[in-house]
Amino acid sequence: MPEESSPTPHAWRPARFMVIVAHPDDADFGPAATAARWIDEGSTGWLVCCTSGDAGADDWRTDPLELAALRETEQRAAAGIVGYEGVSFLHQPDGALANDLALRELLVREIRTFRPDAVLTIDPETVFHGDGGVNHIDHRVAGIAAVDAVYPAARNAMAFPWLARDGLEPWTVRRLYLSWSNKPTAWVDVTTTLDRKLAALRAHASQIRQPEALEGRIREWAREEGQPIGVEAAEAHRVIVIEDDEDEGPTHAHDPETEGADGA
Ligand SMILES: [Zn+2]
Repeated sequence: MPEESSPTPHAWRPARFMVIVAHPDDADFGPAATAARWIDEGSTGWLVCCTSGDAGADDWRTDPLELAALRETEQRAAAGIVGYEGVSFLHQPDGALANDLALRELLVREIRTFRPDAVLTIDPETVFHGDGGVNHIDHRVAGIAAVDAVYPAARNAMAFPWLARDGLEPWTVRRLYLSWSNKPTAWVDVTTTLDRKLAALRAHASQIRQPEALEGRIREWAREEGQPIGVEAAEAHRVIVIEDDEDEGPTHAHDPETEGADGA
């Protein structure tokens, strides 16, 4: 059998990117170090949290509104450390996120407003993390909602026509980067920004009981993800190329048999 060529560090960088996740802290457990690196190199990033994490406490007596406010404050602090230009909270219910038309419209509004070249979200196909754990349903829902908003709704002039009437023109996102995938295809060297990811995670103080243990786990994870490309620390992504560009050819062979038209 021919030896598979080993992957090289992922070099493509979007000028503008949007991270869409379910909860405050997801983006920081997810692609924060990639985001920080891209921002350091000149990209502009925006973070969208579908919920405000109002179910993220162990005590059922917790006031969900107070918790949501605290978690938004923590997420804004973390986003400042990573360097996002801003954060949107869509205030959907934690634990009950639904990939419905209402959420899709909210996400299309965000995408058409910020106009990202790439959207980073959670791989909606990850039900289980390998054989070690279940991926929270809100994560999967946020992921598939982001995918459905990117394609075709954000680029389709006929989708939510009142948005275009309000001046939010259709927008084509070129790529999806999916975190926590069981099928990664791209490894971003984050040796220089892993510490920023750790600092961003520490900002979620209400969620982290043992910051030192967490730091060890994150460093080990980054080290493992760095191995395929031979670097100290990396974040792995599953990249879906929607629109090819000249900078870098398609990362996947296209199959014209199975490719449909753009329409609804
Ligand atoms: Zn989460």
